[in-house]
Amino acid sequence: MTHHREEFVRIPESDLEGMLPDTLAVRAGQLRTAQLEHSDAIFPTSSFVYGSAAQAAARFGGEEPGNIYSRFTNPTVQAFERRIAAMEGGERAVATASGMAAILSTCMALLQSGDHVVCSRGVFGTTSALFHKYMAKFGVTTTFVSLVDGEEWASAVRPETRMLFVETPSNPLCEVADMESLAKLAHENDALFIVDNCFCTPVLQRPLDYGADIVIHSATKYLDGQGRCVGGVVVGPDKLLEPVYGFLRSAGPTMSPFNAWVFHKGLETLPIRMRAHCENALELAEWLEQQPEVEHVYYTGLESHPQHAIAKKQQKGFGGMLSFCLRGGRNEAWRFIDATRMISITANLGDVKTTITHPATTTHGRLSPEDKSAAGITESLVRLSVGIEAVDDLKTDLQRGFQALQNASNT
Ligand SMILES: *Cc1c(COP(=O)(O)O)cnc(C)c1O
Repeated sequence: MTHHREEFVRIPESDLEGMLPDTLAVRAGQLRTAQLEHSDAIFPTSSFVYGSAAQAAARFGGEEPGNIYSRFTNPTVQAFERRIAAMEGGERAVATASGMAAILSTCMALLQSGDHVVCSRGVFGTTSALFHKYMAKFGVTTTFVSLVDGEEWASAVRPETRMLFVETPSNPLCEVADMESLAKLAHENDALFIVDNCFCTPVLQRPLDYGADIVIHSATKYLDGQGRCVGGVVVGPDKLLEPVYGFLRSAGPTMSPFNAWVFHKGLETLPIRMRAHCENALELAEWLEQQPEVEHVYYTGLESHPQHAIAKKQQKGFGGMLSFCLRGGRNEAWRFIDATRMISITANLGDVKTTITHPATTTHGRLSPEDKSAAGITESLVRLSVGIEAVDDLKTDLQRGFQALQNASNT
C-alpha cells in the first residue's frame, strides 16, 4: 500500500475549509515532521541551516521561502499562527511576545504621527496607558469614549482618525459594543476597526465576521487557559498583517517557540474549556443575583444586562467573566474576598482556576477617583474569572464570603 506522505505531514488547506471550530482547534496548523510524531514537535532553535551559500542568499533575498531566524520565522510559532488564524476566520496571524506587544505592533505598523485613535474607556489599563503615555509621544492622539454610546463614538471621530479600538465585553463590567455599527462608522471614515477579543476568544465571538479589520489577543488568558505563558497574537487580512510582521521583524517583540507550543496545544482544549467556563459563570451569576448581600451582578448572560440582546447576537456564549457589587464599600469587598479559601486571589483571568479580585485597588487602582467612577469601578465591586471547577464547590467557597459579611453585621 502506498500513501502520499504530504497528507500525513500537513492537512491540505482545502480540507480545512468548512471544518467546524472544534475541529480547527485540534487540527488546523498541524505541524508534523518526517518522524510522523502525533503530538506537534517543538523547534527551540534560534537559526536554521542552508544547503549551500546560494540557498542562504536566496532565503535572505526572499526568492526562496523557508526558515531563516526565529525572530521572524519559526515553525512552532507559525503552527500556532495558522491555528488561531483558522479559528478567527482570518487570512493570517502574527504571534507576539505578549498581548501588549500585539497592540503595540499593530499601532506601530498601521499608525503614523498625526493620526488619531478613538478607544473605549473601559479597555485594559495598560492598553490605555500605551495610548496616552507612549503613542502620544510619537504624535498619535487618542480620545476615550463610552464603549456603548454610539453617539459619543460618532462625535469623537475626526478627519485624521485612523483607528477605532475596543474590547468587548469589557473588563470588569462586561459592557458589550455593537461591533457592526462601529465597523460601519470606522469604514465610513477610512479608519480601521480593531477588536481585542480576549474575553470571548474565537470560540464565542469572531469579530472579523462583524466587520472588524483586525483581532487582537492576549494569549496569556484563555488561549493558554492554564496560566503558564505570556503571549499575544494579531489576526486579520494579509494586507494589514504584512506591515505588522515587518514591524516584528525589525523591532523584535517575538513569541518564543516554547510559548507558541504551549498556546498551540492550549487551543486544542479551548472549545470545551469555554463551554465549561460559560456554564459555570451563568449558574454563579444567577445564584449571586439571589444573595441579599449582593446589590448588582454584571454578566452578559443575565436578562438584566443592558446589552444582553446584542451579546446574544454577537456571541455564541456569555463567557467566564463576571463582577458584582456588594452592599457596602471596600471593607465589605475585602472581607468577602479574604473569607474565600479555594478561589485564587490574583488578577489573572481566563484560567481553568477561578480567580477573584478587587478592581478598585488592583487592576484599576491607578485610575483617578473621577476616572474610576466614570468607568463604574466602585469600592464594593468584586470581579470573578470563573474557572472550570465543580460549580457547587465554587458556591461553597463564595458562601464563606457571604457568611463573613453576615458575621460582621451581627457583631
Ligand atoms: C491581559 C490583557 C491584555 C494584555 O496582555 P498581556 O499578555 O498581559 O500583555 C490586553 N487586553 C486584555 C483585554 C487583557 O486582559
